[in-house]
Amino acid sequence: MVDRYWLKPATRKKVDTLKLTDSFFTIFAGVDANVFPPDTDAHVLYMDQYYQSVRDLRLICFCNSSFKDAKLAPPGKHALQIVYFDPLSNEYASWRRDEYYATRKQAMFDRAMTMAEEVFPGIIDSLDYTICGTPLTYADYLAKWGGGWGAQMTIDQFAFNRFQNKTDIRHLFLVGADTHPGIGVVSVTMSGINCAYHIAPPR
Ligand SMILES: Cc1cc2nc3c(=O)[nH]c(=O)nc-3n(C[C@H](O)[C@H](O)[C@H](O)COP(=O)(O)OP(=O)(O)OC[C@H]3O[C@@H](n4cnc5c(N)ncnc54)[C@H](O)[C@@H]3O)c2cc1C
Repeated sequence: MVDRYWLKPATRKKVDTLKLTDSFFTIFAGVDANVFPPDTDAHVLYMDQYYQSVRDLRLICFCNSSFKDAKLAPPGKHALQIVYFDPLSNEYASWRRDEYYATRKQAMFDRAMTMAEEVFPGIIDSLDYTICGTPLTYADYLAKWGGGWGAQMTIDQFAFNRFQNKTDIRHLFLVGADTHPGIGVVSVTMSGINCAYHIAPPR
């Protein structure tokens, strides 16, 4: 959006060396409620084994929004989001919208759901509806090229080292996950509130 010419050298360097998070695979599903035991949490994280390196990590995360707000799903159903991390799918650059895309998407869905069965047996048969997101989906719909979440939350990209609301250009502000305080719905809300303070400070 802004020509590099208008940026300070330090900002240009920060943009050029920005490290992004890995990406991931997501399944949005409507499922029968009876697949979840009564004491199931709204968020369940599962790793099938101990991994020496985060690069090898296989992890599945179940986020049941309708556990928190029953109105989000019809009676007897749940609105489930499965976030699935797998070395076979995390790398954004490895994804292409080519003739293999649909097959690869299906293969990742099958791998994720096989792992999901380990946590909630019967979940595959309880699926009413599914739609999947690949790293390319986040690029298409959210303009997240590279990582699914944006800039990594590393020490060198955190707090004062992260992008701030104010920029090198007067009256141009930044908000959202790549800015302080960072990734996640709560953090981006804080970023927006902080930004509003810069634009219209309370009197
Ligand atoms: C699949 C997935 C699951 C997640 N789950 C959780 C969770 O459970 N809890 C949590 O706290 N966080 C979660 N996150 C992270 C959280 O959603 C993000 O950190 C947060 O939404 C980022 O907010 P944002 O406003 O910076 O960007 P976004 O929410 O990505 O909003 C940016 C918007 O700008 C639009 N846009 C981009 N470029 C342009 C353009 N040129 N012109 C017009 N519009 C444009 C995009 O379409 C998008 O609507 C998840 C993220 C993903 C991808």
